[in-house]
Formats: sequence, structure tokens, C-alpha cells
Amino acid sequence: MTLEEVYKRNLEHRTHRAGWLRAAVLGANDGLVATASLMIGVSAAKVPGSFLITAGIAGIVAGAMSMAVGEYVSVRSQNDIEESDRLLEIQHLAIDPEAELLELEHIYITRGLTQDLAHQVAVAMHEKDALAAHLRDELGQHPHTKARPVQASIASATSFIIGGLVPFMGAFAPNAGAKAWSIVGFAIVGLVMTGIVSARSAGSPVLRPTIRVVLGGSIGMAITAGIGHLVQLSGI
Ligand SMILES: [Zn+2]
Repeated sequence: MTLEEVYKRNLEHRTHRAGWLRAAVLGANDGLVATASLMIGVSAAKVPGSFLITAGIAGIVAGAMSMAVGEYVSVRSQNDIEESDRLLEIQHLAIDPEAELLELEHIYITRGLTQDLAHQVAVAMHEKDALAAHLRDELGQHPHTKARPVQASIASATSFIIGGLVPFMGAFAPNAGAKAWSIVGFAIVGLVMTGIVSARSAGSPVLRPTIRVVLGGSIGMAITAGIGHLVQLSGI
């Protein structure tokens, strides 16, 4: 196998795009389940159709905001941790490069190199780019897996909205009795789709993750439908 073929084969790996795709699928899934559950709960309480639509829109907007903020904060704090690790590493390299060289050597020994070879590799790495070697081999930081907070927050908010619009369409069924069931129907179709997309993107078999996603979503909808029904029965 030539170097070029090896390089091409490496491109088949999925980690490079796993970050944003995972966020998008999770967002769509959240949008589906949260919106469907909310609307089924509301419709189980036998409210007028316009209430149901309003509840759906409010739920989608609130969820998208919460996803955007949550994702931004979580990615930012992850990046902050990595950044302070990076600064610490720069300090260590400036204060005691010898000790850092030994540290790198030790890492290569634990990965299976002999002491001599580990020393040679560590020296070569230090000559080329000591910081890059420490970030990669000591801290496991890779530039291509670094998440971008704004991009991640827009992606999850957008996918929440797309996911939420699927059960929302179910609320436009012609008569009141059919609305709840058509919301459930739309939601299940949507869940099957996110299940398939997430399985395909992970390169794993499709059936199991899809069943898992559909079951999880259905439990959520069943619980809120139960609550909505109880509220309606109790006449609050
Ligand atoms: Zn180090």
C-alpha cells in the first residue's frame, strides 16, 4: 500500500465530522421529542386548536434558545479548559524544557517504544515543534477536533427548530380528535429519520439505534400525554 492510499483510507474515518453532526442530530432529536411531548400534553388537556399552535411555537422557540445557550456555554468552557492547559504547557516548556523532554520520552515509552527510540523521537519532536508535540501526545488536543462555540450553538438551535417543526405540522390535522395522533405519527416518522441519520453517520448498523431513539421519544410523549390527560380530568 502506498502512502497516498493510506492517506485516502484515513479520510474514511468519521471523527473529523462527528462533532457538529452529533450536535445536529441531538438537536433535531431534542426538538422532536420536546415539541411533540409538549403538544401532545397540551392537546390531551382538550384546549382550543389555537392554544395548541401557540404552545408549539413557544416550545420550539424556547427550546432553540436554550439549546443555543447551553451548547455555547458547554463548548466555550471546554475550549477554556484546553486553552489554559495550553498556556500551562507553554510555561512548562519555557521554564524546564529538559523535564518536558523527559516527560515526552516517558509518554512514548508507555506507548511501546524502547527507551532509545523514545528519546530519539522526543528529541526530534522538540526540535520540530515542542508545543505541538506536547499538546497532541500529552494532552490529546487536536486542531481538527476542536469545537467552535458559535458554530456549534447555531447548529444545535437550527436542528432543534427543524426537529420541532416535524411534530408541529401534525397539529394541522383537520379535527381535534385526530391532532394528537397525527402529532405522534409525525414525531415517530421524524424519530426514525434521526435514528437512521445518526446510525449512518456513525457507520453503525441502523436498526438498533433507531429503535432506541423511537422508544425513548415515545416514552417522553406517553408521559406528557398522561400528565395532560390528568390535568384535564382534574379540571385545574
Ligand atoms: Zn508537557
